[in-house]
Amino acid sequence: MTKNKKLLEEIASGRIESLLSMARTRTLQNSAGDDLSRRYVGMAQNIISHYKIPAGRRMRREVCASCSTVLIAGVNCSVRLASQYGYVSYRCACGKERHVMYRSHGPKLLEQQV
Ligand SMILES: [Zn+2]
Repeated sequence: MTKNKKLLEEIASGRIESLLSMARTRTLQNSAGDDLSRRYVGMAQNIISHYKIPAGRRMRREVCASCSTVLIAGVNCSVRLASQYGYVSYRCACGKERHVMYRSHGPKLLEQQV
Protein backbone atom coordinates (compact mmCIF):
# COMPACT_ATOMS: atom_id res chain seq x y z
CA MET A 1 0.00 0.00 0.00
CA THR A 2 2.82 2.39 0.82
CA LYS A 3 4.45 1.59 -2.51
CA ASN A 4 1.22 2.53 -4.29
CA LYS A 5 0.99 5.77 -2.32
CA LYS A 6 4.55 6.69 -3.25
CA LEU A 7 3.86 5.94 -6.91
CA LEU A 8 0.67 8.02 -6.82
CA GLU A 9 2.58 10.91 -5.26
CA GLU A 10 5.21 10.70 -8.00
CA ILE A 11 2.58 10.76 -10.74
CA ALA A 12 0.71 13.61 -9.04
CA SER A 13 3.92 15.64 -8.65
CA GLY A 14 4.68 15.21 -12.35
CA ARG A 15 1.20 16.37 -13.28
CA ILE A 16 1.42 19.36 -10.96
CA GLU A 17 4.77 20.34 -12.44
CA SER A 18 3.47 20.07 -16.02
CA LEU A 19 0.33 22.08 -15.14
CA LEU A 20 2.45 24.81 -13.55
CA SER A 21 4.76 24.98 -16.54
CA MET A 22 1.75 25.30 -18.87
CA ALA A 23 0.35 28.06 -16.64
CA ARG A 24 3.75 29.78 -16.64
CA THR A 25 3.92 29.67 -20.45
CA ARG A 26 0.38 30.99 -20.73
CA THR A 27 1.14 33.83 -18.28
CA LEU A 28 4.23 34.80 -20.28
CA GLN A 29 2.07 35.06 -23.41
CA ASN A 30 -0.58 37.13 -21.64
CA SER A 31 0.97 39.11 -18.80
CA ALA A 32 -2.31 39.85 -17.06
CA GLY A 33 -2.85 36.12 -16.51
CA ASP A 34 -5.90 34.79 -18.28
CA ASP A 35 -8.54 32.34 -17.15
CA LEU A 36 -6.79 29.34 -18.69
CA SER A 37 -3.64 29.82 -16.63
CA ARG A 38 -5.78 30.22 -13.49
CA ARG A 39 -7.58 27.02 -14.47
CA TYR A 40 -4.25 25.17 -14.73
CA VAL A 41 -3.29 26.40 -11.26
CA GLY A 42 -6.71 25.39 -9.92
CA MET A 43 -6.29 21.89 -11.37
CA ALA A 44 -2.87 21.62 -9.71
CA GLN A 45 -4.40 22.71 -6.39
CA ASN A 46 -7.16 20.10 -6.82
CA ILE A 47 -4.54 17.37 -7.36
CA ILE A 48 -2.71 18.51 -4.21
CA SER A 49 -5.85 18.41 -2.09
CA HIS A 50 -7.08 15.11 -3.58
CA TYR A 51 -3.86 13.18 -2.99
CA LYS A 52 -3.07 15.07 0.23
CA ILE A 53 0.50 15.73 -0.80
CA PRO A 54 2.55 18.74 0.32
CA ALA A 55 2.18 21.69 -2.02
CA GLY A 56 5.89 22.11 -2.49
CA ARG A 57 8.04 25.18 -2.18
CA ARG A 58 7.66 26.24 -5.81
CA MET A 59 3.87 26.01 -5.71
CA ARG A 60 3.70 28.03 -2.50
CA ARG A 61 6.10 30.71 -3.70
CA GLU A 62 5.17 31.02 -7.35
CA VAL A 63 1.39 31.14 -7.12
CA CYS A 64 -0.58 34.10 -5.76
CA ALA A 65 -2.82 32.99 -2.90
CA SER A 66 -5.41 35.61 -3.75
CA CYS A 67 -5.92 35.41 -7.52
CA SER A 68 -4.25 32.03 -8.36
CA THR A 69 -1.94 33.38 -11.04
CA VAL A 70 1.61 32.24 -11.54
CA LEU A 71 3.98 34.96 -10.35
CA ILE A 72 6.74 35.83 -12.81
CA ALA A 73 9.08 38.60 -11.72
CA GLY A 74 9.00 41.52 -14.12
CA VAL A 75 5.87 40.32 -15.87
CA ASN A 76 3.08 40.37 -13.30
CA CYS A 77 5.03 40.55 -10.06
CA SER A 78 7.45 43.01 -8.51
CA VAL A 79 10.21 41.81 -6.22
CA ARG A 80 11.55 44.02 -3.45
CA LEU A 81 14.28 43.28 -0.96
CA ALA A 82 13.70 44.47 2.60
CA SER A 83 17.20 43.91 3.89
CA GLN A 84 16.53 45.61 7.23
CA TYR A 85 13.89 43.01 8.08
CA GLY A 86 15.41 40.09 6.23
CA TYR A 87 12.68 39.24 3.76
CA VAL A 88 11.95 39.36 0.05
CA SER A 89 8.60 40.88 -0.87
CA TYR A 90 6.69 39.57 -3.90
CA ARG A 91 3.84 41.85 -4.93
CA CYS A 92 1.30 40.46 -7.39
CA ALA A 93 -0.53 42.61 -9.95
CA CYS A 94 -3.71 42.12 -7.88
CA GLY A 95 -2.03 43.86 -4.91
CA LYS A 96 -1.45 40.83 -2.70
CA GLU A 97 1.99 40.86 -1.14
CA ARG A 98 3.94 37.87 0.14
CA HIS A 99 7.03 37.99 2.32
CA VAL A 100 9.62 35.24 2.21
CA MET A 101 12.18 35.34 4.98
CA TYR A 102 15.77 34.81 3.99
CA ARG A 103 17.26 35.44 7.39
CA SER A 104 16.37 33.13 10.24
CA HIS A 105 16.42 35.77 12.97
CA GLY A 106 14.55 39.05 13.22
CA PRO A 107 15.52 42.59 12.26
CA LYS A 108 19.17 43.51 12.11
CA LEU A 109 20.33 44.78 15.46
CA LEU A 110 21.67 48.33 15.54
CA GLU A 111 24.21 47.46 18.20
CA GLN A 112 26.21 45.51 15.62
CA GLN A 113 27.00 48.77 13.80
CA VAL A 114 28.19 50.60 16.96
ZN1 LIG B 1 -2.62 38.03 -7.15
